[in-house]
Amino acid sequence: MDRRKFLKGGAAAAAALSAGRALAGMGWSQGRPAAGSRVVILGAGMAGLSAAHELVNHGFNVLILEGRTRPGGRVYTLREPFSDGLHAEAGAVFSPANHEHTMHFAQLCGMKLHSVPPRDLFLASWVRSRMVRLDQSALDFGGLTPEERRLGFGGMLERYFYSAVNELTDPISLGWPPPALKKYDDMSFADLLRSRGASSAAVELLSAGYLSMWGDGVEKVSALGLLRDGWFGRNDFLCQIEGGNDRLPHAMAKLLPAGTIRYGARVIRIERAPGAVSAVYEQDGSRHRIAADHMVCTLPFGVLRDLEVTPPFSPPKHKIIREMPYTSVALVYLQTRRRYWKEKQIGFWMGTDTPLMTVIDASYKQPGTRGILEAYVTGQQARALTAMSPEQRVDSVRRHMQQVLPGIDAEFETGASKTWDDDEFTRGDYCWYKVGQSAEIMRTVAVPEGRVHFAGDHTSAMPGWMNGALGSGRRAALEIQRSAA
Ligand SMILES: Cc1cc2nc3c(=O)[nH]c(=O)nc-3n(C[C@H](O)[C@H](O)[C@H](O)COP(=O)(O)OP(=O)(O)OC[C@H]3O[C@@H](n4cnc5c(N)ncnc54)[C@H](O)[C@@H]3O)c2cc1C
Repeated sequence: MDRRKFLKGGAAAAAALSAGRALAGMGWSQGRPAAGSRVVILGAGMAGLSAAHELVNHGFNVLILEGRTRPGGRVYTLREPFSDGLHAEAGAVFSPANHEHTMHFAQLCGMKLHSVPPRDLFLASWVRSRMVRLDQSALDFGGLTPEERRLGFGGMLERYFYSAVNELTDPISLGWPPPALKKYDDMSFADLLRSRGASSAAVELLSAGYLSMWGDGVEKVSALGLLRDGWFGRNDFLCQIEGGNDRLPHAMAKLLPAGTIRYGARVIRIERAPGAVSAVYEQDGSRHRIAADHMVCTLPFGVLRDLEVTPPFSPPKHKIIREMPYTSVALVYLQTRRRYWKEKQIGFWMGTDTPLMTVIDASYKQPGTRGILEAYVTGQQARALTAMSPEQRVDSVRRHMQQVLPGIDAEFETGASKTWDDDEFTRGDYCWYKVGQSAEIMRTVAVPEGRVHFAGDHTSAMPGWMNGALGSGRRAALEIQRSAA
C-alpha cells in the first residue's frame, strides 16, 4: 500500500466527497460518475467509512448498511451519566502519533488532538498488593535478577520483547509471516519472555496491565501476534481527539454524500451469484434486499459467523470466520468529586495484578475538578464482570479500587460500564490469536471470496487499532477498483 499517496490524496478526497449527491429513491449515493459499479458496504465503523471515502472519491455508487443508529462501531464515547461535560472512551482510547491512516482522517476532518507524553506511561504498577514505581533507576521488586533491576521496566521490554520484534520482516508484505517466524506462533507471549531469559518475577511485572490486554492473557496469546503489534512502533506519543474519539467517525460520515449510510439496517444474509452479490437486511420491522456489483464486508467475525451466506464461503474462510477468537473486554467507570489519585503519580494508566487489570485516568487532560477512573478489564475477569448487573460491576470495581487507590469511597459520585461480549453488533472486542493459530489466519483472513471483499481491523496487520481498520477499508476499496478496471 502506498501510504504517502494516500495522505496526499486527502484534500482531493474532501473536495470530491463534498460534491457528492444522493440518488433519491434508489438509495445509492453517487460521487463522480462511475462505470456503473455499485458497492454495498456492511458496517459504518472505521473500516466501512474509510472504504466508502475511497470508493466515492473514485466515482463508485456506495451504500453502507449499518445496524446501529450511529456510525463508528467500536469507536464509541460515553458522555452519560458524567457531569461537567466529562466523557470517557468505551472503545478506541488513543492513537499513537505514527498511525498514518488515523492521523490522515483526523486531519481531513479538522479534529483537534491532545497527546499523552511517553513520560506519563508506565510510571507505576500495582503488583503483590503494593505500588511498584517503574520510573526509578533500580526496580524494587522481589525476585528480579540484579541485571533486571538495573535494566528497569523499559530495559526489560527492550531485552525480552523488542529484541525479538527486530527479527521481523514487514508484516504488511504478501504471504507474511515467513516460515522462519513460525516458532513465535508456536509459543505464548510468556514463553517468549522466558525463552529470552526473563525471570518469573520479570514476567509477572511485565504482564500486569497493557501486555495482558489481548485475549486470555500472556500464557495463552500467540507471541507472534504481539510481536507484529510491536513491529509498528513503540507507543510513543498517544493522541486523543479533543471532545471524544467518536467525533472522528461522525465527521467522516458527514463528509460522505447524503444518504450514503442507511442506519438501523441489520444485515442478516449475504447472497452470492455470478456477476452480483446481495445483502438482505431488516429495517423498521421489514425485510429488504439490495444487489450490488461488489460488497465490502467489515462485520466482526463474531457477528459474521451467525449470518447466512449462500452459497457458503470457501472452507478455509469459513473456518477462520468460525474460529477467530475475540477478546472479552469490560470497562467500568467511576466518577469522582476530585482527581484525588493525581498525587500518586500513576500517569495515564497503571497496570495491576488485581481484577481491575488496567486502571486508566479517563479524565486525563479534560478540564475541571471532577474526574473519572476507569478499570479496563479483559479475558476471564471481563467475562465475570459481564455476567454481573451494571450496579454489581460498579460495586465490584469500587471495592478493588479502594485497595489500589484508597479514597474512592469518599470521592465516588456515580458509575457506568460497557461490556463488549454482549454487544450484538460486535460479540467481543478485538480479535486475538491463540498459540499456533496466528500464521494461518494472517495469511488468509483478507482474501476476497468472489465479489465479497473483507475489511475491518481483524483483516489487517494491526487488529485492535483504528489504523488497521481504516487501512483495511482502503485496501478493500483498491481491490474493487482493480477488479472493476
Ligand atoms: C475497548 C476498546 C479499546 C480499544 N482501544 C483502541 C485504542 O486505544 N486505539 C485504537 O486505535 N483502537 C482501539 N480499539 C480498536 C478500534 O476501536 C477498532 O479496531 C476499530 O474501531 C474497528 O473498526 P471496524 O470498522 O473494523 O469494526 P467496527 O467498529 O466493529 O465496525 C463494524 C460495524 O458493523 C456494524 N454491524 C455489525 N453487525 C452488523 C449487521 N449484522 N448489520 C449491519 N451492521 C452491522 C457495527 O455496528 C459496526 O458499526 C479499541 C476497541 C475497543 C472496543
